[in-house]
Amino acid sequence: MNPLIKAAQAVSRAKTTMTLHDEIGNLSTEFGSMAADLKNHQDKLLSYGRQLESIIADRTAELAHEKANLEISVAERTSQLNAANDVLTKQAAALRKRNQEITLFSKMNDFLQSCTSETEAYSVISEAVTQLFPDDSGAVFVLNGSHDTLESAAIWGQQPPAKLSFAPSECWAYRRGQVHLAIGQAQRCAHVDDDGHMYACLPLLAQDETLGVLLILDCAAVHDRADEQRMIEKSALAKTLADNIGLGIANLKLRQDMRDLSIRDQRTGLFNRRYMEEALALELHRTTRNNEQLAVIMIDIDKFKHFNDSFGHDGGDTVLGALGAFLQKHVRGSDIPCRWGGDEFILILSPTTTEGARQRAEKIRQDVMLLNVSLAGRDLGQITLSLGVAIYPDDAAEVKSILKAADVALFHAKEAGRNRVAMFDRAAASVPDSDE
Ligand code: GH3
Ligand code: MG
Repeated sequence: MNPLIKAAQAVSRAKTTMTLHDEIGNLSTEFGSMAADLKNHQDKLLSYGRQLESIIADRTAELAHEKANLEISVAERTSQLNAANDVLTKQAAALRKRNQEITLFSKMNDFLQSCTSETEAYSVISEAVTQLFPDDSGAVFVLNGSHDTLESAAIWGQQPPAKLSFAPSECWAYRRGQVHLAIGQAQRCAHVDDDGHMYACLPLLAQDETLGVLLILDCAAVHDRADEQRMIEKSALAKTLADNIGLGIANLKLRQDMRDLSIRDQRTGLFNRRYMEEALALELHRTTRNNEQLAVIMIDIDKFKHFNDSFGHDGGDTVLGALGAFLQKHVRGSDIPCRWGGDEFILILSPTTTEGARQRAEKIRQDVMLLNVSLAGRDLGQITLSLGVAIYPDDAAEVKSILKAADVALFHAKEAGRNRVAMFDRAAASVPDSDE
């Protein structure tokens, strides 16, 4: 080969090698730069990553904190709601109880309004109290006619009261006209056993008058603070009850007084003439229905004017009152004693027989002679009676005619010399069977 060509080729190869070295140098530099960039980016990315992790950790911690706070406030709210719910449940139960009590009071008052006797009224009261205080015992005590004793009118519960009657001075509630609650060291009334049982005594008041006392006796001998609180609440309810009972009894007494005024004679306390005529009509029907006999005894005080003349009108009134009381005391449940007018009285015996009526009339005559009647220390002397007896249906068949027959018999007793009993004599007199 041409040496020149060979040299040219060698130069060319050397050039090529030189160029290659340059390019590799360049490439190496560029790689170095790229690697530095990459390292830089990687560092940045790592730094971002760390920042991000830190942010996430912070945010997670914040969220956990918020969650914990939220849970606390949810728990607080739930407990508030539960508490509110408890209060509402208790209020609803109290309202329901109050509602039942009001219904019971109103039912009791309704019944009391319709009662015609005190016996009926006390049975209504007992029922109401038993429902209001099912776990307790107690009693209603009412002042008697002479105002010196409180007598039990209604009793309920397992533990009967220690005393069934006692003097008003033995009860703090009666004496003070206020509720007396015996819990703890409080004074105890003398009419209640000193055995540690809690009780409440409440005056039965009506128009400023104390008519009696309501006793509510707790049956548990041992009690704690909660029981005492319960007793205080019970006494508040018992106070409302006592007020209702007081008014109920006062109303009943007023109604009885008004009825008494319309059917009773004020001087003697016996039934009046109008009542007697109505009662006699009913009794005649009943006697006929039962195929029985009835007697009308007409009674007249002998020489009654003498009492007025000798002792004044008051003397006469005293004699009328004494005979009224005597008849009231000596009649039987089914008899009807009445003042006919002036010094005349009528006693209806139903049922009876002719002989039975005659004997009763005779006994009255004899017993009245034994009465001792006085006015302002002065003995008014002996009272004698004339009595006329007529028998239904034997002597007459209607109200007016049977009264007339008794009057005719009385006339014969007077005529025969007074102080005696005369039976209506059917053979001697005839009474028209007519109310005309
Ligand atoms: P006898 O019946 O025995 O024939 O004689 P008597 O004296 O009872 O006669 P009479 O029946 O006529 O007298 C009744 C008297 O009673 C006449 C009247 O003045 C009197 N009187 C009537 N009502 C009352 C009253 O409420 N009080 C008083 N003190 N007297 C009365
Ligand atoms: Mg007379």
